[in-house]
Amino acid sequence: MKSAELKAIKESLVAQKSSILNRQQEFKAETLQSLQLADETEQVVAEQNQNLGIHLREKDRQVLLQIERALSKITDGSYGECEGCADPIGLKRLQARPFTNLCVSCMEEQESQSQLFQ
Ligand SMILES: [Zn+2]
Repeated sequence: MKSAELKAIKESLVAQKSSILNRQQEFKAETLQSLQLADETEQVVAEQNQNLGIHLREKDRQVLLQIERALSKITDGSYGECEGCADPIGLKRLQARPFTNLCVSCMEEQESQSQLFQ
């Protein structure tokens, strides 16, 4: 991979990371506010929103972990390698999902396996 391409990918990873962190900050502030304002009926709604928020945050947390991993791989030079088969992951795929750690065929295999367990 060319260093300019890698640099662009790294910048997009860093941008995604900070947007997730900002979102979490906003969510925290909103939750605090709605809990302070709520009477009994509103409190139920606020709790539901909070549950939704926790679910979203769980997803964000996983993406954050993947972003951190991708960034450390860029640092140690192993970025762009599939964790399943060690083949290089296609550049287009990396540009679309820079924090991915599997090539298309390994990802499809993993998805079909996880469907078997559902
Ligand atoms: Zn693979």
